[in-house]
Formats: sequence, structure tokens, C-alpha cells
Amino acid sequence: MKETIICPKCHSDQLSANQKGFDGNQATIGMLTGGALAGVALGMHDSGKIQITCLKCGNKFVPGGGAVKTVDDAGNQSIDYMEPPVDTNRRNSFIVAFILIAVLLVLAIILMNNPFAFL
Ligand SMILES: [Zn+2]
Repeated sequence: MKETIICPKCHSDQLSANQKGFDGNQATIGMLTGGALAGVALGMHDSGKIQITCLKCGNKFVPGGGAVKTVDDAGNQSIDYMEPPVDTNRRNSFIVAFILIAVLLVLAIILMNNPFAFL
């Protein structure tokens, strides 16, 4: 029996594993919506994770989120689709970003109402 990881979209086994770096797009969106700190948090949240790219169709998926082709000794093929793992890191970094934004907003409101609050 032989198991091969394949692309869940086109079933190709021509895959390339890459380590994700800093996500510039998400960092930019974060800066536009909630300041530089939130931008950095959003951009960094999944750097260092392995991402698999299909060389045939360009589909991107995470380890555990692809498909497995199993060929048994008789040569019968079967394809099992894996459930993508729940991305808790992403949710956590959004919560952190929202807390940062809330704290900054509260500080800004206090400062606007009373510039001498922290003196
Ligand atoms: Zn593919």
C-alpha cells in the first residue's frame, strides 16, 4: 500500500512546501484599519508556518488540509480529503489586534477629553 499527498483540487502530486514569511498584504490591511501595531500582529500571525503549493494548478493548502491518494497492493486508487486544521492562531491574533485597537481608542478619547489626565 502506498500513500501520497496530493493537491485536493487537481489531484496532482507535484507539490512544493514553503515556509510562509511576513504577510505584507495582511500587514497593510491591519495598518489601514487599526494602526501599526495591529498591522504587525496581523502580518506576523502565520509567518513560519508551512504552506504547500500545487505546482500544477497553484492551489495553496496547509499540511493536513490536502488530500491523500492511497494505492493498495491490487493497484486500486482511493482519494481521502483531509479536513483543514482549525486556524486558532489567526483567531487569536485578531483578538489581540482588537484589544490593541480598543486600548488605543480609549487612551485617545481620555487624552482628547482631558489632555492633563496623565500628568
Ligand atoms: Zn493542484
